[in-house]
Amino acid sequence: MNADPNNPADLATRDLRRVWHPCTQMKDHESLPPIPIRRGSGVWLEDFDGKRYLDAISSWWVNLFGHANPRIAAALADQAATLEHVIFAGFTHEPAVRLAERLTTIVPRGLTRCFFADNGSAAVEVALKMSFHYWRNRGDSRKTRFIALANGYHGETLGALAVGDVDLYKALYRPLLMDVITAPSPDCYRREPGESWEAHSLRKFELMERLLEQHAGEVAAVIVEPLVQCAGGMRMYHPVYLARLREACDRHRVHLIADEIAVGFGRTGTMFACEQAAVTPDFLCLSKGLTGGFLPLSVVMTNDEVYDAFYDEYTALRAFLHSHSYTANPLACRVALATLDIFAEENTIAVNRVKAAHLGRRARELEAHPHVAEVRQCGMIVAVELARIKATREAYPWQERRGRRVHRHALGRGVLLRPIGDVVYFMPPYVVDEAQMDLIVDTAAEGIELATCD
Ligand code: PMP
Repeated sequence: MNADPNNPADLATRDLRRVWHPCTQMKDHESLPPIPIRRGSGVWLEDFDGKRYLDAISSWWVNLFGHANPRIAAALADQAATLEHVIFAGFTHEPAVRLAERLTTIVPRGLTRCFFADNGSAAVEVALKMSFHYWRNRGDSRKTRFIALANGYHGETLGALAVGDVDLYKALYRPLLMDVITAPSPDCYRREPGESWEAHSLRKFELMERLLEQHAGEVAAVIVEPLVQCAGGMRMYHPVYLARLREACDRHRVHLIADEIAVGFGRTGTMFACEQAAVTPDFLCLSKGLTGGFLPLSVVMTNDEVYDAFYDEYTALRAFLHSHSYTANPLACRVALATLDIFAEENTIAVNRVKAAHLGRRARELEAHPHVAEVRQCGMIVAVELARIKATREAYPWQERRGRRVHRHALGRGVLLRPIGDVVYFMPPYVVDEAQMDLIVDTAAEGIELATCD
């Protein structure tokens, strides 16, 4: 019999015959096949039976203003009918120029140049290479290393993986990776009882300062995820750490790379997380929410000082000869402009503050649960961390996959939650309303109860 593309069961079967999914042990699909989605609207995804799933994780943190947002979709259609793509070396186009102009007006002051790429990992590669290359062009060839934070995550390509520190993704590939200096994480889940976030973050900074003192001569840059280590389990820290880091990087002549791929565009309560520490990094990596979740696009923003170090006669061989075929794709740039229009016209950051307060208030009700070790929040990111023993924060054995039980329960109830290990988190699209936030938290509460009852 021929497979019927409108039959959801067939779609899943055909998928499993030919497709290999990201970040997935494909054998898991024997018990829970991939769910074919027919359409999306607002916070909702809909399958072929008409069952809806509330996308509480914004489809890997990319969606901001709802699935199939009509305004963004219209901009995309218009652009597709005008110019879908053009080589970005030797040519340019209006969406990219306008996007670069707009971005430089909304990011921390001093970031005047935009280098486009097409996904988050690629942006991280660009920032690492550019920093190293800057020091070369300035005549310092000793600066070949990077300092990164324990528990950080910057993507899956080899350079990005090297500066990350989530063992599950990294450990196996270590023989392929460059040698990075790892500083302890300021992650406040690990603070001493009674210690404030600020005091803990400052205490952890002392170790970063020591590493900078020891290694500044050989270090090109420090790379961090500002305020929230997302893939590392939504672990959070105080902005004072970023302020101190900026000052120390300047003092030690080391670049600061801020990877705001996950936290940029309003997720932490300000447009960019760096604003909360009033710092401007030397490189700012953006992606995900940049296009409102419609298309892959990323950008590395930097300053005149860096740009000028590459500007010379061709024969001086100082140029940054890095490229991706789809660099600054016009469809993606146009969609990014439509996304920025929504931010500007709908006062998103202020509206989100009210929504975040509701989500946080509701989520904190879970603090009383005997297996909830912590509920933490940074803007529109809320995380609920489960533990086997609440008082000591002793984790469950990872093999028990408690978070996955929450995931399965929530799917049954029509909510897409995808815990990271035993960290259940909420990162909904900004169009979420109060009733939908209540559904997310209530469903998570049921799931947590079921996942921790034995
Ligand atoms: N940096 C951070 C902080 C991220 O969260 C991610 C993606 N989760 C990346 C980089 C990599 O982005 P991409 O998946 O688009 O390669």
